[in-house]
Amino acid sequence: MTIRFAFDNSYEKLPERFYARLGPTAVRAPGLIKVNHALARELGLDPAALESPEGVAILAGNAVPEGAAPLAQAYAGHQFGGFSPQLGDGRALLLGELRGADGRRYDLQLKGSGPTPFSRRGDGRAWLGPVLREYVVSEAMHALGIPTTRALAAVTTGEEVYRETPLPGAVLTRVATSHVRVGTFQYFAARNDGEALRLLTDYVIARHYPEAEGALGLLKAVCAAQARLVAQWMGVGFIHGVMNTDNTQIAGETIDYGPCAFMDTYHPATVYSSIDRGGRYAYQNQPDILLWNLAQLASALVPVMGNDSDTAVAEASAVLQGFGETFRAEWLALFARKIGLAEVQEGDEALVVDLLHAMSAGQADFTNTFCSLGTARARDHFLDPAGFDAWEARWQARLAQGGIAPKQARALICATNPAYIPRNHRIEQAITAALAGDTAPFERLVAVLANPWEEQPGAEDLARPPAEDEVVRATFCG
Ligand code: AMP
Ligand code: MG
Ligand code: MG
Repeated sequence: MTIRFAFDNSYEKLPERFYARLGPTAVRAPGLIKVNHALARELGLDPAALESPEGVAILAGNAVPEGAAPLAQAYAGHQFGGFSPQLGDGRALLLGELRGADGRRYDLQLKGSGPTPFSRRGDGRAWLGPVLREYVVSEAMHALGIPTTRALAAVTTGEEVYRETPLPGAVLTRVATSHVRVGTFQYFAARNDGEALRLLTDYVIARHYPEAEGALGLLKAVCAAQARLVAQWMGVGFIHGVMNTDNTQIAGETIDYGPCAFMDTYHPATVYSSIDRGGRYAYQNQPDILLWNLAQLASALVPVMGNDSDTAVAEASAVLQGFGETFRAEWLALFARKIGLAEVQEGDEALVVDLLHAMSAGQADFTNTFCSLGTARARDHFLDPAGFDAWEARWQARLAQGGIAPKQARALICATNPAYIPRNHRIEQAITAALAGDTAPFERLVAVLANPWEEQPGAEDLARPPAEDEVVRATFCG
């Protein structure tokens, strides 16, 4: 079987200083875990061919398909607020770009494919746990309707990776509308490379925001896309965990699933990431951190905004000043729908905020509370159901005043609030089983989360919050 990838590469046409060209490092014994059939077809790839030994060799980095132009992308970034002028793909390679069935261009990237000139002290590898985690969570995000990178495939390497202890190595094939990040702009800004900034700006506008006019237009478009994205994260209780500027993607897709997590019990200050000791990237901080990251993008773009620098700074600042209102509008429209309100009225924000307060005080499960609003089950999620009852009475009055029938509210609630999210303890259990050679729990998670809106018979356990002894309190990087 010969696999054909209809590569149509554009990034490699940018100047050589945008990347380092190199191939993947071969591994000992490639082994198939999973190919995402639906996504493969969307990309014009034959799933069976990808699952063949020839396909698995490509997915593991042991063979480079015809037409590929593998390269590691250069980028910089603020990590936990500190600037690194050079990060780059230290364990990933862009194989090339494909046209999807939707006519859009997609990057095909191997993550965990071996060292690159950007690896610093890293080994260039990934282990099975984070690869499965990214597969499950990114595909769940997609099914939830939230912009995200996708998982095309996961393979094992037959080699060990050392993370305090030896662990099985794995490679994820990641698909994204591109891998350009805020940090890509920062890389060139830090070098005062105006020519590269202009080229990158033009490239990104052509690829992602054809309507945008110039660097200022690009900044506006990225602010809007990212505001919408992070509002959607908030809506499903998602905590990215490492919102560094190199992990803030320009097209507005969720990228880099490291120590990310979906919240079980609602609390605004929730943090899972073991490396986020100060809680910089806590659930409630995500909008502010996003604005901070967008301010870094604005700084990088000011030199190519075309006006004198005072004007450019004033214009960029005005865009950033508008972010708060843009975000609030996205957030409120979404949270209003989460409680069954298709249209926002005066007082609705307080209604949403008071529900969140009651949930926090009552240690309510985020997903299940929203999902059950308007049913007799809702109050059971609260330690103190009476606190919820008072809120529910106000909510019912709001529905009545708006002429919204309970059934109509329920329909919007069910269409907006998922029944299933990738819960931490289930992911951990799936990884533990896979390490022991059983990938059935991983397969089951992927299958159930592909349809997160409807309750699926036999999958009740995946909707339940963790039992006391199942709670996962910390998540780790790969
Ligand atoms: P991340 O925290 O995954 O966003 O990665 C931040 C930077 O560290 C990027 O430049 C990565 O390519 C690099 N990196 C992360 N893990 C590894 C690794 N195992 N080997 C080499 N580079 C890595
Ligand atoms: Mg180069
Ligand atoms: Mg990253």
